[in-house]
Amino acid sequence: MTTKTSIYRDEYMTYAPEGETCPVCKTAIGQLQPARRGTEERASAAPVVVYWHAACVRKAADK
Ligand SMILES: [Zn+2]
Repeated sequence: MTTKTSIYRDEYMTYAPEGETCPVCKTAIGQLQPARRGTEERASAAPVVVYWHAACVRKAADK
């Protein structure tokens, strides 16, 4: 399960660490809100781990 075929590769549902901000809606992810952990791959640097609200993942996927 290491294929990398998309910019946003969903990994699993979890809870975000304190202080994480959702890049879609620019608001903090509460610790009691389910979040989707994923990896944003960048051409010039190492991938970064990001967290989205569960609902925001779907919005991002629609783009
Ligand atoms: Zn969000």
